[in-house]
Amino acid sequence: MIKFENVSKRYEDGTVAVNSLNLEIKQGEFFVFIGPSGCGKTTTLKMINRLIPLSDGTIFIDGKKINAYDIHELRWNIGYVLQQIALFPHMTIEQNITVVPEMKKWPKEKMKQRAYELMNMVGLDPENYADRKPNELSGGEQQRIGVIRALAADPEIILMDEPFSALDPISREKLQDDMIDLKRNLKKTTVFVTHDMQEALKLADRICMMKDGEIVQVGTPQELVTNP
Ligand code: ADP
Ligand code: ADP
Repeated sequence: MIKFENVSKRYEDGTVAVNSLNLEIKQGEFFVFIGPSGCGKTTTLKMINRLIPLSDGTIFIDGKKINAYDIHELRWNIGYVLQQIALFPHMTIEQNITVVPEMKKWPKEKMKQRAYELMNMVGLDPENYADRKPNELSGGEQQRIGVIRALAADPEIILMDEPFSALDPISREKLQDDMIDLKRNLKKTTVFVTHDMQEALKLADRICMMKDGEIVQVGTPQELVTNP
């Protein structure tokens, strides 16, 4: 599904953030990158949707080089969730959720249906929330909207960069539980970055531990726990 072949990233100042990464993420897998700050997790993630160009090597999605995809097609097919969700402040929650479907020119009725379905999935009653503005939601609720916004147009891949780490412990736990449900229901290929091992163990099908831009170990949570 997502294949890294000798992928390296050297920034302009000479920093080697990722060094000759070889890895295959399977269809439908929930794949977690973990490691200390600065080990190359975010760089690795951002190369998948071409937010950062590779210095060397190749990334394939479904056997096709990422550079061979039309950039809009690629980005529409890859949902992206950041630590700090930037919802559009002047748009309602419903409008925020349907930004990508809108660009894809989905019919109005289908967009509304999708937005309501997703709000229900994460326990936010659409009747109550759809017409609100982002500043009328708590941080945890906004982050939940950020997560479902990334799912709205039914992308094949979801990238998540420390999506819950700015939240208080209770909201974080709630969103992790939501994520487990979404994972079961949607079975999307998900690439998730965190520095929190508990979170990784809770969510991951497989975990990749990184250090200094390289892979230290890859395995299921059980393999990592029994064979650290
Ligand atoms: P992580 O997500 O694991 O914290 P990053 O991928 O953000 O790691 O960073 C990996 C390394 O690359 C770090 O040493 C970081 O300082 C460096 N780095 C990240 N972005 C840039 C950049 N735009 N220019 C130069 N160095 C960068
Ligand atoms: P994240 O929370 O995603 O890990 P960071 O706080 O590491 O993000 O970085 C924020 C931005 O600064 C990113 O665009 C990253 O590329 C850039 N950046 C990170 N480290 C460096 C660095 N050493 N030099 C220049 N830019 C950097």
